[in-house]
Amino acid sequence: MANVREIIDLMGGKVSKKDEELITRAYGFAEKAHDGQKRLSGDPYFVHVFETAKVLADLGMDAQTIAAGLLHDVLEDTPTPEEEIKKEFDDDILFLIKGMTKLGTLKYRGHERHVESLRKFFVAMANDLRVVIIKFADRLHNLKTLQFLREDKQRRIAIESIEVYAPLANRLGMGKLKGELEDAAFPYAYPKEYAQVEEIIKDKKESYHANLTEVRITLEKELKKNKIKFVEIDYRIKHKYSLYKKLLKYDMDIEKIYDIVALRVVVDTVEECYRVLGLVHSIWNPLPGRIKDYIAVPKPNGYRSIHTTIFTGLGRVAEIQIKTKEMHEEAAYGIAAHFAYKEYNDKRQKRDDKDKFRWIEELKELHYTPGEPKKFIDHLKMDFFNDRIFIFTPQGDVIDMPEDSTPLDFAYSIHSDIGNHTSGAKVNSKMSPIFTKLKNGDIVEIITKKDSRPSSKWLDYVKTSIAKKHIKSYLEKNSLLAKLKSFGQS
Ligand code: MN
Repeated sequence: MANVREIIDLMGGKVSKKDEELITRAYGFAEKAHDGQKRLSGDPYFVHVFETAKVLADLGMDAQTIAAGLLHDVLEDTPTPEEEIKKEFDDDILFLIKGMTKLGTLKYRGHERHVESLRKFFVAMANDLRVVIIKFADRLHNLKTLQFLREDKQRRIAIESIEVYAPLANRLGMGKLKGELEDAAFPYAYPKEYAQVEEIIKDKKESYHANLTEVRITLEKELKKNKIKFVEIDYRIKHKYSLYKKLLKYDMDIEKIYDIVALRVVVDTVEECYRVLGLVHSIWNPLPGRIKDYIAVPKPNGYRSIHTTIFTGLGRVAEIQIKTKEMHEEAAYGIAAHFAYKEYNDKRQKRDDKDKFRWIEELKELHYTPGEPKKFIDHLKMDFFNDRIFIFTPQGDVIDMPEDSTPLDFAYSIHSDIGNHTSGAKVNSKMSPIFTKLKNGDIVEIITKKDSRPSSKWLDYVKTSIAKKHIKSYLEKNSLLAKLKSFGQS
């Protein structure tokens, strides 16, 4: 049976008396409020909020958020009046519960309503990201108990989790949660594809295991010999849904995917990361083009690590990921780490988060034309949910852009005037077509000419909506001008 101790223990050994008291109080309050209610699984309803709170505690969230997790369905699903919560808990907690309640009452009814709920989501995020993190935890438990719902509901919730929740978690750097959401949703969203992936991995598991164990033993020996201290070495198997996405990219050919299992080496310092990389390459030959230094150039969601793929003999390969303990935790918990226990009351931290997650403000401002929900969702996918790359100006400023962006997109993201007058581009100091697909870490210099101007062909190559918007508006204005001119002449 549920016990408040389980939550406290998940928080680690550093819980203050005050926080413990708060969580215990929220626990008792929620248990009483939901008394007699049952979930479709037949479990007491309280189990749901208890599990939600456990996910939050495991993410390392602060006591207020965990308490709000316990209380998140009290307003919506029990007759408890707001005043009663106000009497027992502080304003922050009430704010979080109300935020959750607002999100919760929006049910999916076709595209239009879906967009509406998404927009509320973004507003909630901009107000307090913790609301969204509670929503993630709530959703994760709902996904895990999906088998008790009607089939059409299962599918709807699963797809929504994959299309909206997981990409958001990813954008917030919460890799662990993203993987868990996707894997819990995958069998319900795409049952056939799920079975297919299961089948593909089944045969391979043993050989991966053997291969990686060999590499691990050799590497551990060499690290000791070279006196490089490591915190841990372990391996991770790629989450099933992200494997599926990768398989789609490679014609379902598993032989072309190198990172299904990866050996993870965790060390103390950045310097040691590079030493380990050197050592790895002195033992095994690396695959050309597969060394990725996300420490020097982190992924836009903040992910840092060094990846390399090595030949381990007999045609086999293995991916090795090298990172510090800090990077490892950041990759798993992302934004949640910023709200971690005890740290969140720091005002400066809050401001830093605001800068770092400026795109959340942008999401809130996103333009929506009523009646065109599909356009809105496409735009969203393009500009916010796609994998992002970092592009540098020659001065070293960083611009965060969607994958497959071109120098032209880059030009428009700096200024519409620069975009409209682009005549050429240098990528990493080499002249390159303005339609080149950029790669993470490219340095791009835009060459402008006074008499250069957009052509309709540009529309076929640019990726971002901002570039499209400016090109279209330029073309419209000019065709109008041309018409006026010809009118004047005749
Ligand atoms: Mn709930």
